[in-house]
Amino acid sequence: MKKEFIFLGPPACGKGTQTAMLAEYLHFPHIDTGSLLRAEIKAGTDAGKEAKLYIDEGHLVPVELVARIIKNRLSEDDCKNGYILDGYPRSIEQADALTKMNSEINGDDKDVDFRAIYFDIDTEILIERIVNRRSCPKCGEIYNLAYKAPKQEGVCDKCGEKLTQRKDDTREVAQERFETYFHETAPLIEYYKNLNVLKTIDANGDIQEVWERLLKVVHD
Ligand code: AMP
Repeated sequence: MKKEFIFLGPPACGKGTQTAMLAEYLHFPHIDTGSLLRAEIKAGTDAGKEAKLYIDEGHLVPVELVARIIKNRLSEDDCKNGYILDGYPRSIEQADALTKMNSEINGDDKDVDFRAIYFDIDTEILIERIVNRRSCPKCGEIYNLAYKAPKQEGVCDKCGEKLTQRKDDTREVAQERFETYFHETAPLIEYYKNLNVLKTIDANGDIQEVWERLLKVVHD
């Protein structure tokens, strides 16, 4: 049976870290929309140039642009047994687009288990998490100066590359990303609950605690 996992939760709720761990654990591809869009920006494509205008303001990139990128990615061969989709969908419109692209990719008779996992977390701490976040542009490892600092300041423990801060990880843009989340994305919690595919985990706590809760709902 093909297993499709999507994830909901506010910015910096820990989804990125946990979904990367889950992808490795299940041997499914980890498809992270934010990273796919940042890669387009880095490559200087037309899609990247357009996306940058929205990302820098903390707003959602237009629905058709993201849908095109995601559909191409989900159609690749490594997704045929399942995928971990992180950061998509982020609005009801995108959720409808995902349903449509999944049925186009899977056809009518494919046996599919679709789950939406919601990371429920106290949001007060999250802005601090965001401004303290650093990442490695080479291997993608994520650090946090407050609770997961690199051994040597500014340098990736894994590959020795100089760490960077995302341009949209400033206090001001982060505030805007939360507004976007509450208006556009949070309604998906009810949407997937009504479809009977929603699982909620308590995302407060350290990485290991949240991981154990995540594994429980994955194996449920
Ligand atoms: P993230 O890395 O998930 O925090 O995403 C960073 C930014 O990329 C967001 O603030 C949006 O501007 C854009 N983005 C990521 N995923 C989506 C999506 N599904 N739809 C529209 N914009 C997105």
